[in-house]
Amino acid sequence: MELLQYLPRRYKGETVYSMAARLVLNDISVSTSRSLQNVFHNRNLQLDSAFPSFIPALAEKMGCSCDELVQQHSLFPYFSVFANGSAIRRALTALLNGESSVAYKALGLLASRLADEAYLKYCPVCATQQKVAYGETYWRREHQLPMVNVCVEHHCKLIQVSRKRKQLLFPESDKPSNYDIDVVEMKLAEISTGLLSSGHFETAKLLRGYAARLFARGLATTKSVHHGRWFNEMFEYFSLLRAHDDRVAQLFSKQSEHGFPANVFYSDKSSHHPIKHVLIICFLFEHFGDFVVNYSNASTITTQQSKVKPLKQSEIDQARYKRVIHYLNQNLSLRQIVKNANVSAATVRNIARSQGITLTSSKRKINDGVERLITIKLMVGWPTEVIAARLGVSKSDVEQVLSGHPEIKALRQRIRHYRKRHESRDSLLETVAGLSDLRVKHLKDRCYRDYMWLYKNDRAWLFDTLKQHSFSNLKS
Ligand SMILES: [Zn+2]
Repeated sequence: MELLQYLPRRYKGETVYSMAARLVLNDISVSTSRSLQNVFHNRNLQLDSAFPSFIPALAEKMGCSCDELVQQHSLFPYFSVFANGSAIRRALTALLNGESSVAYKALGLLASRLADEAYLKYCPVCATQQKVAYGETYWRREHQLPMVNVCVEHHCKLIQVSRKRKQLLFPESDKPSNYDIDVVEMKLAEISTGLLSSGHFETAKLLRGYAARLFARGLATTKSVHHGRWFNEMFEYFSLLRAHDDRVAQLFSKQSEHGFPANVFYSDKSSHHPIKHVLIICFLFEHFGDFVVNYSNASTITTQQSKVKPLKQSEIDQARYKRVIHYLNQNLSLRQIVKNANVSAATVRNIARSQGITLTSSKRKINDGVERLITIKLMVGWPTEVIAARLGVSKSDVEQVLSGHPEIKALRQRIRHYRKRHESRDSLLETVAGLSDLRVKHLKDRCYRDYMWLYKNDRAWLFDTLKQHSFSNLKS
């Protein structure tokens, strides 16, 4: 067990590049090439590729499985989220054999000719917090995704750093942060981050979801899509992004023979670069939760909304950090600390290491595969007890997984809100249709709860609807 103390650190959501670069940096040699040779037995290894060839070697050094590195620390889940099952398996095999280009090809990423990110990116607030908490900074996976230019957690712009071969780079702490961000940028970041842990989307179902939304937006009939109008509206919507991102400009270039966005409908067999889907989702849906609900054709579930008091992220982190140390000193097991302090297992391990505390070991009850299934079900808003029953685990196992994903908690709240809104609107419209005397009082009598919910949460829509139906005495 003592060996565990010497395993290198692995932070939650850290990129494989970041871990590999730290290992190489910590190897004291005359040159980076020599360190690369010492650590990975290959002096010419390229560390910062999206699909790096060193995953098996890194897994061995970090004392974890390849699957953990691929699923939790690489960009693979993002690049494979819209591909079909057999393509994903082929790509994964290639990636673990160190054949990056085969992996790209299996996912249809070479054919799409959309270049990789030119920069490594980091959030100045995250970097400063990392430095305070761990004494060092690291690269976060969600910040390296294509078209992501803001930190979803801190709502500020990411700082870009040019990639350099043969030079190991890390984020700098104490850099000023810029909060001048645009709604579309925020939405793109939120959607792209969501895709990292959402599991896989089936193309035929995905396209049906797009078609339904296009229809609702008047951009399609039941028979066909209005390609020209759809293109023009998206062209306009992404005008700012087109100016800053060459890949997006290229997609919307009028000379392009491929005809984005309509071409995603041409063949549901071929894979498209995820950025095409991200752009379409961003344009068609209100937020990631809206998209997931639309995709999963969610059945109606109502759960009471819980009120969350807004706190600064730094305050939350600091409070958590203190709680973890408190529980560590009380000698609680990892599992209990995760539950009580509402943090991920990785955070507890990191804090324990930084404090020189050995964790009381307890056997893990669920494996990575089950954990991933739980995460997916949590993302689409299934109640925790239903997930537990379906997957044959305990409710506290499910809650433990959820506690490690604050972003999914927020997403679930939005999904519940969105479902409740949908139900209340439907119920209200149905009641309105059955009223012979259009007075607000009568409407309230018949569907009081939905009326009051909409009054509190969706007032603009409620009043618009009442106006459209020419209700009298609207002021009551
Ligand atoms: Zn941040």
